[in-house]
Amino acid sequence: MSQTYPFPAARPAEPAARAAGLSKLYGRGDTQVAALDSVDVEFGRGRFTAVMGPSGSGKSTLMHCMAGLDSVSSGSVRVGGIELSALNDRELTELRREKIGFVFQGFNLLPTLTALENITLPLRLAGRQPDAAWLDTVVASVGLADRLGHRPSQLSGGQQQRVAVARALASRPEIVFADEPTGNLDSRSGAEILGFLRDSVRELGQSVVMVTHDPVAASYADRVVFLADGRLVDELYEPTSGTVLDRMLAFEAEGRVL
Ligand code: ADP
Ligand code: MG
Repeated sequence: MSQTYPFPAARPAEPAARAAGLSKLYGRGDTQVAALDSVDVEFGRGRFTAVMGPSGSGKSTLMHCMAGLDSVSSGSVRVGGIELSALNDRELTELRREKIGFVFQGFNLLPTLTALENITLPLRLAGRQPDAAWLDTVVASVGLADRLGHRPSQLSGGQQQRVAVARALASRPEIVFADEPTGNLDSRSGAEILGFLRDSVRELGQSVVMVTHDPVAASYADRVVFLADGRLVDELYEPTSGTVLDRMLAFEAEGRVL
């Protein structure tokens, strides 16, 4: 790829994150598994993308590799135009703290810290002061203003996941990856979290990628991509729970159970 120096400052055409020829192998010899097999995918700015596929199809591996939480075997991952493989460990840690938010199924909050301390921890570790106005916006949008002094054990699962969503958004990241963020929640709390993720895209201009098994959850997104056996096999725009379910049933009819 040819590039002219100096690089242009603004690159509006650049997606929030992009994988090209991304492969991830686990193990070696006879037991080697290709968790990802040459995946090409772009996640647009200001877009909410759902990732679906059967258990073991590589969804978590894709999130981890694109968020710089796991190394890749080959191929390229760019977040906001920055090639992750070009970074050393310190730079990668910095990029993760400042440009990438991650929401886990199991919340992953630190039990001894308050909600507010959990939300601002990645920024503090990066040596940055949170932007007060943005932090207020994020905290208000997930409805946590009166819970900021609570520790995780004093919060419900849904409230803990709201803290995790606020933590992911606190740095105003390039992109947020969420791996089955509603998997441990009752349907009402799950719907709340999905609403907050959607609002963060529609109202705050954030970019979100979310793994889910649930066609209703996927219908909150603008686009759904389907993985099978470590490959991207299909995608759907402006999904409804009905069109997602139809697609899953079509895969099943082909013997590719989602
Ligand atoms: P999904 O999230 O879609 O359920 P994963 O990305 O977790 O799928 O896993 C994809 C494949 O990679 C599976 O075959 C899984 O067993 C394998 N895998 C994932 N993580 C590891 C690991 N740390 N070591 C070995 N194999 C792994
Ligand atoms: Mg998974």
